[in-house]
Amino acid sequence: NVLESNEIIEQTSKYGANNYHPLPVVIAEAEGIWVKDPEGNKYMDMLSAYSAVNQGHRHPKIIEALKEQADKVTLTSRAFHNDQLGPWYEKICKLTNKEMTLPMNTGAEAVETAIKAARRWAYDVKGVEADKAEIIACIGNFHGRTMSAVSLSSEEEYKRGFGPMLPGIKLIPYGDLEALKAAITPNTAAFLFEPIQGEAGIVIPPEGFLKEAYDLCKQENVLYIADEIQSGLARSGKLFACDWESVEPDMYILGKALGGGVMPISCVVANKDILGVFNPGSHGSTFGGNPLACAVSVAALEVIEEEKLVERSFKLGEYFQTKLKEINNPMIKEVRGRGLFVGVELSGSARPYCEALKQEGLLCKETHENVIRFAPPLIIEQDDLDWALEKITKVLSK
Ligand code: PLP
Repeated sequence: NVLESNEIIEQTSKYGANNYHPLPVVIAEAEGIWVKDPEGNKYMDMLSAYSAVNQGHRHPKIIEALKEQADKVTLTSRAFHNDQLGPWYEKICKLTNKEMTLPMNTGAEAVETAIKAARRWAYDVKGVEADKAEIIACIGNFHGRTMSAVSLSSEEEYKRGFGPMLPGIKLIPYGDLEALKAAITPNTAAFLFEPIQGEAGIVIPPEGFLKEAYDLCKQENVLYIADEIQSGLARSGKLFACDWESVEPDMYILGKALGGGVMPISCVVANKDILGVFNPGSHGSTFGGNPLACAVSVAALEVIEEEKLVERSFKLGEYFQTKLKEINNPMIKEVRGRGLFVGVELSGSARPYCEALKQEGLLCKETHENVIRFAPPLIIEQDDLDWALEKITKVLSK
């Protein structure tokens, strides 16, 4: 008694809050870079659940870790220790070259954690007067949907009807060093940014900005916090997008691919002088650091290393972008990206192209009206990219 796609779509829109506008496709099965609908139609996934499935759908090693851990213990809460947390802590700290981490579940929660850490650091370490701490963020940012995250947003629709917003936030144009300089005051706790803006349409900062902003933050005693939830963990052709300018942020915010598309797990990672501000009772989450997510995450990180996903993303990304640039259509304003994190900006709406690509068996999603985002699982092979390029060329040449 399996429901058909149209029945499922109807049921979903009947009972669900209308907070998404999905393409009309129902995914019932997935493996690697491919997904299938209930009727058995096959599609190539070129979105990777907004880069949460960098390792590919149901990677065998990650599923094995999930099953093995599910047979032992899944949740203890942090009222007790669990045997998977320590090994995961060590893994993530060594990977990021940081001393401490704090695990949560979703990306937005990790952003909340970063804001709390930055504010408390400003009061306890920097000496900012109580309740005066400021966070500087960028126009066009996307840090999630919780109240703090939407308070950071410059997008009216993300905020409408949800006020009052969190105070103490300043916005600057993305990539504008002079604006950052002008926004910093003695009360500035942190500069929070995405090293590549994903939801804004794969926007890359001007060359040199990441490094110059870092130097400025050091000079002004401001925390430099990189939201690498989407851009990190091999997506951009480097382990972290900050690596493109060889900067090590004071704090990384990670999520999405940290759980290999299998379990939600997110975290912030920083040194003791920053994360040391948390004490028992100041922050937490029932599911944060649960043994199931930790076991899955260790496997997910090992897959990134063992299958050289950084190198793959870099190499195949160059190839993919070069080929995309050869497509001849005056509608295409720009092809840009880093690694397999690619945006094709059009002079009109991207949605009809995404719908046409779906008809060709390729799933991707418009971002910000006029950008098609291509972000396939990083395990993709060049042959499969060629198949995708054929379809994309066909649709975009129309
Ligand atoms: N930060 C960035 C850069 C993101 O791209 C996202 C999700 O798209 C988030 C934060 C929020 O993550 P989540 O949806 O897991 O809360």
